[in-house]
Amino acid sequence: MRTPIIAGNWKMNKTVAEARELVAEMIPFLKDVQGVKTVFCPPAPSLLPIAAMLEGTDIDLGAQNMHWESGGAYTGELAPAMVSEFGEFVILGHSERRAYFGETDETVNKKIRAAQANGLTPIVCVGETLEENKANKTSEVVSRQIKAGLADVSAALVIAYEPIWAIGTGLAATAEIANDTIKTIRAVLAELFGEEDAQKIRILYGGSVKGSNAAEYFSQSDIDGALVGGAALKADDFVKIIYVARAEVMKSNA
Ligand code: PEP
Repeated sequence: MRTPIIAGNWKMNKTVAEARELVAEMIPFLKDVQGVKTVFCPPAPSLLPIAAMLEGTDIDLGAQNMHWESGGAYTGELAPAMVSEFGEFVILGHSERRAYFGETDETVNKKIRAAQANGLTPIVCVGETLEENKANKTSEVVSRQIKAGLADVSAALVIAYEPIWAIGTGLAATAEIANDTIKTIRAVLAELFGEEDAQKIRILYGGSVKGSNAAEYFSQSDIDGALVGGAALKADDFVKIIYVARAEVMKSNA
């Protein structure tokens, strides 16, 4: 049984003051939730203040990106040890990083290795464009991203399958299709790490998940939670997603 993860990717939203407000609103509802791992991924300036607010809760913290080098002349970047000082997770290879900041499977691979070497759990994002989807290339694209991105890394990671056309668009992939692609990803993970480890890796779905559609995803066999963008900025919607995940866990334990 894989413990689901619901990670909120706040992207470039919220000042520290706004971030504190959002977290303060959610903590009473999320601090003791059992059976689901909640992760907040705020912008870097909020990592320290939010880490302090999360002390004594079961909520974890993650960064949205980092560099693979341990330090030095890399203006504007975050080193792995700077993230692991406050966080347990780091999102790597998000499609926005790949599209706007030149990230490739090779740089994502370097970042995953650096994250693992620093005790961080990477949330590695993969997913196809609309054109690739229409050309029936989804399996080919995600398999390539997984094989190249995960060369020489350990199985201590989380994958987020995020069809690019479903991110921030309201056009979510159907739960059945997302589940099928996630099964394909798990098969590739089995080739890389063996069946036993592949069964332990959490694979999240991401792309326009909200409280109102979360149950469709979390009731699928292979979807182990969600990476949430827009809805993670709304306290009530994000809390609802986590409660839906918890209800699915309770249902499958019954
Ligand atoms: C994301 O940015 O990872 C994401 C899934 O965004 P949204 O939920 O807004 O589609």
